[in-house]
Amino acid sequence: MTRISADEAARLWHEASDDELKELAQRARARWHEPDRATYMIMRIVNYTNVCVAQCDYCAFYVLPNEEGGYVLDRSDVFAKIDELLDVGGDLVGFNGGFNPKLPLEYYCDLFASVRERYGDRVEFYALTVAEFVFLADRAKLPYAEAAARLRDAGVHWITGGGSEILTEDFRARHAKWKYTVADYFEAQRAIVESGMRTTATMVIGFDETLEERIEHLQRTRDFQDACLADGYDGLFSFLCWTYKPHGTALGGREIAAREYWRHMALSRIFLDNVRHFRTSVLTQNEDAFRALEYGADDFDLPIEDEVTQKAGATVDLDLEALLAIPRRLGYRVEYRHAARPPALAGS
Ligand code: SF4
Repeated sequence: MTRISADEAARLWHEASDDELKELAQRARARWHEPDRATYMIMRIVNYTNVCVAQCDYCAFYVLPNEEGGYVLDRSDVFAKIDELLDVGGDLVGFNGGFNPKLPLEYYCDLFASVRERYGDRVEFYALTVAEFVFLADRAKLPYAEAAARLRDAGVHWITGGGSEILTEDFRARHAKWKYTVADYFEAQRAIVESGMRTTATMVIGFDETLEERIEHLQRTRDFQDACLADGYDGLFSFLCWTYKPHGTALGGREIAAREYWRHMALSRIFLDNVRHFRTSVLTQNEDAFRALEYGADDFDLPIEDEVTQKAGATVDLDLEALLAIPRRLGYRVEYRHAARPPALAGS
């Protein structure tokens, strides 16, 4: 398959039928993966604080500093959540919280070092998103490279691409003007890659973004990965796309249909020809997420908690066996992908 341009991506979106998109995405997926195999992880997001100064209008999770209801989890809360995850057979924790100005870099380093010390290789954790990383580095007045080195030395292996939503400056100006710029995002992510930690790409669709903005996001992600690969880095391990949940947000609106999500997954798989793993979002699409395996995805998480999306209307199904039966009925061999193994071994 040859690489497609942004114009060709737009044409495909407007003109290709579902079956045509599906077939192209399956061909792109087959470059990396067996057609009938899918991998999954059991994970939980640990929302360590809900205090945030960013005030994104699509967020139902945050509380401003000094407002009622703000919290910061202590270590024993975090350990209890990880213990529960281990009890249900999971081994991946994603830390995600707000931009809390009262938490210094040392809070994060101490927390992550304590998790690494207590659990060793029994769990892996995604420590922060790129968005949180930018905030804490800026607050510590450290260059991104220095902040990344401090976290890496505290035992962090992964900082995910979360907090990206739609990576265009216009989108950020409309909805998240205190978050950071797109340039900041990629500069920080590059520093994470250069520090030796691993990272991922993420995207959220279903706000008011245009098709051109979605494709610009994909273009910037592909360019970033090209540059990483050209310089000898592994770059982005995976691409995860989920959908906006409007409940309780200032922005409001309605959710997009599952079919639009599947088509977007296909377009992303076709366009992002330099990323190996595409992860479909059970957290925001529930049972519909599994059909995205037919549209280019090869991997998914079964989450047991994420307060950010649950506050905005996401529902978590804890019947993991019933969930796994769905991709099996679609004809997939599903295999657990151990997060706690090094990525080179854990990937399919
Ligand atoms: S999405 Fe994240 S950064 Fe934005 S307001 Fe919510 S918690 Fe803060």
